[in-house]
Amino acid sequence: MIEHWIGGERVGSAETFTDISPIDGRVLTEVARGGATEASQAVEAAKKAFPAWARTSKVERAEILHAIADGVEKRLEELAITETEDNGALLRSHRRGVMPRVAHNFRFFADWLVQLEHKDFDTRGHTNHVSWDPAGPCALITPWNAPLMLATWKIAPALAAGNTVVLKPAEWSPRTASILADITAEAGLPDGVFNVVQGYGAEVGGPLVAHPDVRRISFTGSVPTAQRIAAAAAANLTPLSLELGGKSPLLIFTDADLDLAVDLAVEQYDNAGQVCLAATRILVQQEIADEFTARFVAKASALRQGDPRDEATDIGPNVHEHQLAKIDGYVKRALAQGARAVIGGGPNEDLGGLYYRPTLLTDVAQDSEIVQDEVFGPVLTLQTFTTEGEAVALANDTKYGLAATLATGSKERADRVSKQLVAGTVWVNCFFVRDLQAPFGGSRQSGIGREGGNWSFDFYCDLKNTVTAPKGWNDR
Ligand code: NAD
Repeated sequence: MIEHWIGGERVGSAETFTDISPIDGRVLTEVARGGATEASQAVEAAKKAFPAWARTSKVERAEILHAIADGVEKRLEELAITETEDNGALLRSHRRGVMPRVAHNFRFFADWLVQLEHKDFDTRGHTNHVSWDPAGPCALITPWNAPLMLATWKIAPALAAGNTVVLKPAEWSPRTASILADITAEAGLPDGVFNVVQGYGAEVGGPLVAHPDVRRISFTGSVPTAQRIAAAAAANLTPLSLELGGKSPLLIFTDADLDLAVDLAVEQYDNAGQVCLAATRILVQQEIADEFTARFVAKASALRQGDPRDEATDIGPNVHEHQLAKIDGYVKRALAQGARAVIGGGPNEDLGGLYYRPTLLTDVAQDSEIVQDEVFGPVLTLQTFTTEGEAVALANDTKYGLAATLATGSKERADRVSKQLVAGTVWVNCFFVRDLQAPFGGSRQSGIGREGGNWSFDFYCDLKNTVTAPKGWNDR
């Protein structure tokens, strides 16, 4: 049984829900189904713990964050397996990429905190001192596609800043947050500084974000949920950070290294396409379209689909039957509207369960839903363009603006095109390279705000400027 973690204690709920593995439909555990009562209890615990935690020194907080990172590294294998069982993402990625990154999230923000300092400046002899003051309890709401990575990318800066936290993990992947709770306790984090409430979004997440004592909301998830959360935040004017979906383009120009371009395109099937940043719209210059497609098909057809616990597997299952039905609905409607499946086009009947074949669709209209909407599955579209201007116009023509990837051999072109793209991140001849010092977030409906480095502290803190007169108080 997975329970809530409130004020340093396991807390149950009268009702539970069942956590099922997407790998084979196996029941993993029952999970406490929280509601308004548990949300309120957790915020109360976070509020009570806040003053003492906010008073700790930077160095004390940094030491505890490093101890949490140590705990993550110690339990890395357990975390990796648990996450794979919960959301079906590859075990090899969890082992070698994702869970080490979870530990790094804590180490990075611990070290960043210690050097965080604004240079004092003078105004007519008065000293201006800028400080980042802790804001209070933070509500952090996260999705299932990279549960612990996305949660800790919020938890670490929030705690480093001297805030307390209530985390609401996604209902399809509740377990690693519970292990993290144990790790934080073992690392010496005081009771109530980190809390976890489990349950469905509307039932426990809704009351959490509407709570008047919550001082920050950071949300990663879909646009419709973000709209509900933003409405709730508006009632209390709670500052919020939103990291949402995308429909990012991969632009491939005639001067690109075609092998690299193919690698970049095939990489978009990672995590069975359930990656917010995925460049799901391949835009390729007309002259090289046939050559690119042939090479892409050869490479993508060699991907091994199967059990994500197997080190040889390249693509695992999708997360849930609802997700699979949503993906298949998009593909079926696109095919009915005249799209052609170059590869894939339906569930993998050989494997059954929640496995969807990596799919590439051509003959798609720019205004069709398959080009405009986030599918969040292993489904890519391919369109061609003739001029650079046309490529930019197609790339920018969705409601999103999360990321964009370019494959080109020309530095001048890369500079020119990247300037014109609406995207929080542009990758040139690479993909998914991410440094925590950099700002991360999306434009348009891909989000509001940026986190990372100082931007995280700007969000999780109340910035204060203290102006001190040149003379002592009694010299006037
Ligand atoms: P979702 O919006 O359905 O759910 C996300 C979280 O919000 C879950 O924990 C859910 O329980 C909670 N929630 C749902 N309704 C709520 C409500 N009314 N109030 C408060 N919380 C509520 O999204 P999902 O399907 O879990 O995740 C997939 C989406 O996340 C995709 O759109 C993807 O692009 C996006 N995503 C974005 C990023 C990014 O960094 N920009 C990263 C990963 C995923």
